[in-house]
Amino acid sequence: MKTKHNFRPESLMMSHGYKPELSEGAVKCPIFQTSTFVFKTAEEGKAHFEVAYGIRDAKEGEEMGLIYSRLNNPDLEILEDRLCLWDKADDCAVFESGMSAITTVLLEFLKPGDLLLYSMPLYGGTDHFINSFLPKIGVHVLGFKPDMKQNDIENLINSNEHGNKLAMIYVETPANPTNTIIDIGMCAQLAEKYAQESQEVLVAVDNTYMGPLWQHPLQLGADIVMYSATKYIGGHSDVIAGAVLGSHDIIGRVKTLRTFLGNMASPNTGWLLMRSLETLKIRMEQQAFNAVKIADFLKDHPKVEKVYYLGLIKEDSDNYAIYKKQYSSPGAMVSFDIKGGESQAFAFLNHLKLIKLAVSLGSTESLAEHPATMTHAGVDPQDKAEMSITDKLVRLSIGVENYNDIIWDINQALEEVTL
Ligand SMILES: *Cc1c(COP(=O)(O)O)cnc(C)c1O
Repeated sequence: MKTKHNFRPESLMMSHGYKPELSEGAVKCPIFQTSTFVFKTAEEGKAHFEVAYGIRDAKEGEEMGLIYSRLNNPDLEILEDRLCLWDKADDCAVFESGMSAITTVLLEFLKPGDLLLYSMPLYGGTDHFINSFLPKIGVHVLGFKPDMKQNDIENLINSNEHGNKLAMIYVETPANPTNTIIDIGMCAQLAEKYAQESQEVLVAVDNTYMGPLWQHPLQLGADIVMYSATKYIGGHSDVIAGAVLGSHDIIGRVKTLRTFLGNMASPNTGWLLMRSLETLKIRMEQQAFNAVKIADFLKDHPKVEKVYYLGLIKEDSDNYAIYKKQYSSPGAMVSFDIKGGESQAFAFLNHLKLIKLAVSLGSTESLAEHPATMTHAGVDPQDKAEMSITDKLVRLSIGVENYNDIIWDINQALEEVTL
C-alpha cells in the first residue's frame, strides 16, 4: 500500500522544484546564465506573455513560461519554491539584496497620504529609507518603541493626525541589536482593528534575525515576510540577496513591481542561495547550540555587565510568553554590555583573534561589532540611549566554529580590557 509522506523542508532542500530530465540529467540545478529564452512557436510566446502580463489567468496546470531573466529564470523559480517550504508561504520573490526586497514591498503597498507604523529600532538601511525617502513621496511614518503595549500603540496611532490612514505595520523582531521582542500576533490584532473597507492594514515582518528556521511570521498573523538572504539563508558571507514571501496576491504584486524596477536576483545569486539552503538547518542549529554556551559564559564574567540574549529572558516576565509563542529557539545573536564604555568595548574588539571584527550576521564565521558607532551610528542619540544602544554594547553573531574556541577567544580578549 502506498502511504503519503510529508517530507520536512530540510529533506527537500536538495531536490524540490528541480527536474533533472530538463537539464541533461544533472543531479544539481545548473546556473541558467542566460538573459532570454527561446519560444518553441510564436503561439507559445504569445501564451507566455498573456500570463506574465495578466491579460488572462493561467489555465489549470499551466506554469508561467520562461521569457526573459528580468521576469523569471529557473534558478530564481526553484529557489523561490524552496524558500516557501520553510515559511509555509504560497509564493516568494527573490531580490539582489535585502534592501531591494524591503524597499519594493514599501513602494508597492504604500501610497501618498498613507501612514506607516514601524517598530524601533530598525535595520539602519530600512530606517533611512523610511525616514528619509518615504516622506518625500508623501507617506507619513510613525515609530513605536519595543516596550510599548498594545494600548500605548493605539494611543500613539489615535493621537497622530494621519492615524485614520494606517496602511502598514512594519516590524523587526527580535530588534537588532538588543534582542527586544515584539508580539506579531498583537500587531495582527492592531491591523484588524484599524482596517477599513477602503483600506486594509498589512503586517510586514523583517525575519532576517530568526528566519527561516526559528520564527514563522505568516503563521503568527503577518501578511508579508522579508529577508536579507545575505545573512542566515546565504550564510557564508559571500553573497548579497533578499526575499519576500506571502500569499499569491501579495507576491504577484511584488513580482510585478520587481519586473519594472529590475531588482530581481541574478541566476548566479539564485544558484549560490540554493547551495546554501542545503545546509541551512545544520548551520543554524550549530550556531544556536554554540550561542547557548557563549551566553552562559558571558553572563557570569566579571567584566560583563549585561547579556542580551533570548535564552536569558526571565520565565516570569510578559516577554517570556511571547518568546515561547513566537520562537522555537533563542537564536544565535548575543549582545552584551561590557563594563566601562567605548574604550573597553574597542579594546575587546581589537584583541579578538578568531572572531572577525565586521558587521553583518548569520554566517558560518563568528563576527563582532560595536552597534553605537557602526551599524546604528545613524540612529538619533536620544533614541539610541532609550533603546540601550550605548558605548558599552557589543554585538556578536555566533558562527559554526567549535564553541570552546569561540569562548577561548572571548575570554582572552576580555583579559586585555582594563576597567
Ligand atoms: C542586513 C539586513 C538588511 C539589509 O539586507 P542587505 O542584504 O544588506 O541589503 C535588512 N534587515 C536586516 C535585519 C538586516 O540584518
